[in-house]
Amino acid sequence: MDKKLKKKVALPGQLISTEEEFMPGKNTFEDNGEIFSGSTGLIEEDFKTKEISVKPASEPVKLRPGSIIFGKVDVVKDNSVLIEMRNVYGMDKKVIAPSFAVIPVRNVSRDYVERLHDFFKVGDIVKAGVSKILPGNNIDLETNSPELGVVKAFCSRCRKPLHLFGSSLKCLSCGNTEGRKISKNYLLN
Ligand SMILES: [Zn+2]
Repeated sequence: MDKKLKKKVALPGQLISTEEEFMPGKNTFEDNGEIFSGSTGLIEEDFKTKEISVKPASEPVKLRPGSIIFGKVDVVKDNSVLIEMRNVYGMDKKVIAPSFAVIPVRNVSRDYVERLHDFFKVGDIVKAGVSKILPGNNIDLETNSPELGVVKAFCSRCRKPLHLFGSSLKCLSCGNTEGRKISKNYLLN
């Protein structure tokens, strides 16, 4: 191991080393012999290349088939759902552009989907898998396994978060009951 990730957070503009000790690496800048952090992140010292760099706390990642993302339902159409992707699951990382992707109706569930509007609603938070990356960087998502689907939904009457009761979602505020393609990781019981 030539690289050492110090468990030390640097802030933008913070003095992290001098040119006598290290060369300025990624996300750093040099001024008058001193090296400063260019972003918020962990300080990384590479003793082989003699470089000091800062690893941003939320470095964006490139998606590939099989990646799991969290996103928000933006539009529900008759044959697809538009998702605004937010984070990549398990990595606490942001999604690199494009930030929008689509769940085609055939990728929604193993069960028959008659009306997509009964499975997703605008504003729902969804856990989805990347199924395909198409030419033009268009991304197809899928929710057709038990852990994928809606993890947080909101009442379509009063907008309060819905709680899971058995296989349906109930609003504790107004008593409304709704259905979704519910993930087994649904957040509110
Ligand atoms: Zn309600």
